[in-house]
Amino acid sequence: MDVGHYAAEPGVISATGRAEFEYNLDLALEVKEALERLGVRVRLIGEKGDYAVLHHRTRDAGGADLFVSIHHDSVKERLLPRADDFAGFSLFISRFNPFRGQSLACASRLGKRLRENGFQPSRYHADPVFGAPRPFADEPNGVHYYDNLAVGRSATMPSVLVEAGVIVNREEEGRMRDPAVRRRIAAAVAQGASECLREKSR
Ligand SMILES: [Zn+2]
Repeated sequence: MDVGHYAAEPGVISATGRAEFEYNLDLALEVKEALERLGVRVRLIGEKGDYAVLHHRTRDAGGADLFVSIHHDSVKERLLPRADDFAGFSLFISRFNPFRGQSLACASRLGKRLRENGFQPSRYHADPVFGAPRPFADEPNGVHYYDNLAVGRSATMPSVLVEAGVIVNREEEGRMRDPAVRRRIAAAVAQGASECLREKSR
């Protein structure tokens, strides 16, 4: 379980000025607890805010069955004045990951569980105007291909990056800050991850 970003470069600055790293840390701790309740062993990476080199994260995850990186989302700079129009989760995998099929299966599970718990995929990352664009790998479940994603391609195990929500959107930031919402996101991510780990070991 990788806590996205680090103290010196804390990622997106939210609508209210809080750094993404803080959101990532809060959620990752919650997902870790939820996974441990499901009997899954979790190694946290980057929780101290000291991982500046991305491939050190995947290196230090060596031996794990799944790499999950926790992030919160933004929009392109020119769209920031309209940030309140963008909301939802998204999931990213790299086609360069050695376990591309398992990465996709795990991401789809995560997306499915998030949707069942009332969360919607953001979708805009696949849009040529609003996104990079990152094509859909599994459209209903909000999974995109992001082939050059460092923690996707350098991982030696299946790897999924989670953007839990869009924290430059004022309303969504409020939701992401709500402990009850965070608990629901964490439960969904943990459920999806543990299911895909069980499938893999079968
Ligand atoms: Zn991020």
